[in-house]
Amino acid sequence: MRLSKATRVGVAALAAFSALAVYVRLTSADPAADAAAVGGGAAALSVRFADKVGAPTDAVHVPKVVKSDAEWRAQLTAEQYEIARGKGTERAFCGGLLKTKEAGIYSCVSCGLPLFSSDAKFDSGTGWPSFSQAFAAENITEHADWSLGMPRTEILCARCDAHLGHVFKGALGTRRLRYCLNSAAMRFVPLTTLAAGETADVAQIRTATFAAGCFWHVEEVFRHLPGVLSTQVGYTGGATKDPTYEAVSSHVTGHAEAVEVTYDSSRVGYDDLLKVFWENHDPTTGDRQGADVGANYRSAIFFHDPQQKAAALAAMKQLEDAGAYDDPITTQIAAAGTFWRAEEYHQQYLEKQGGASCTTN
Ligand SMILES: [Zn+2]
Repeated sequence: MRLSKATRVGVAALAAFSALAVYVRLTSADPAADAAAVGGGAAALSVRFADKVGAPTDAVHVPKVVKSDAEWRAQLTAEQYEIARGKGTERAFCGGLLKTKEAGIYSCVSCGLPLFSSDAKFDSGTGWPSFSQAFAAENITEHADWSLGMPRTEILCARCDAHLGHVFKGALGTRRLRYCLNSAAMRFVPLTTLAAGETADVAQIRTATFAAGCFWHVEEVFRHLPGVLSTQVGYTGGATKDPTYEAVSSHVTGHAEAVEVTYDSSRVGYDDLLKVFWENHDPTTGDRQGADVGANYRSAIFFHDPQQKAAALAAMKQLEDAGAYDDPITTQIAAAGTFWRAEEYHQQYLEKQGGASCTTN
């Protein structure tokens, strides 16, 4: 029952969207060339990027990424900033990537450098994402850390010096290494995204988060936009950690079904994403969207920086001033918090069902 409804909504959304969308895939780019375009003039180092199957490339020389504190604050969410730039630690079992099992690369949230592969991820039981080895030894630097009065080894991104977590040697009664990570210091890039050749100048990569009803069709609307590098569906804006679909659907967690959009800001602007957001749902119906009823289906924009907040508020005011809707806009505009990636079967759901590709002609 849910499928037929969602597919129907998806059809309507895609039809409305067809005039705007141009279904082209981004052309493949050379990661070394991308890297060379970033942060010119800073000290060079040798790192490895991910190829289309997620394997390390040959080592390439790139400049370090150096930004001011204000620039990092503008780029990162408060949580990402606190951990990656402020050497914070997220609470155990509270990170959004703890249970991610999909094939792909975990890259630096600050600069995009590949840090770990899903191949090396294992469940350590500690409550933090754990890996047995780095994606490439060159990409991680280690630093002696006595901040807790005992010797630990801090790990940092070699390219931008972001704090990532710690590495423990011989931990948990095994001989293997355990790289213990903060989810908020990383961005997960699915292998399917790498396979599509969608690489970008990491300095231009931004994240946007929208809720506009059932996340199946909302993801489908955004994921084909030129300039959108990847999308994932999940839960955000609620009170509990690591929510399941069932918990969110029972309306007790406060989360909204949402889509996190990673985009190349040199190819698609936040204003363009906002336009797609407004045009593909009804922002006046409060805690419902069509036949879907409950706060999990509310309309919401979760902004990641002050510029996104200002743009969202301005766009909403413009629509209100223009009298675009008969009823008041109920869209929530709030700061982005932890985004909990939804269960794998919800990711690119309509595409998996064949519903999306059949609706465009
Ligand atoms: Zn980095």
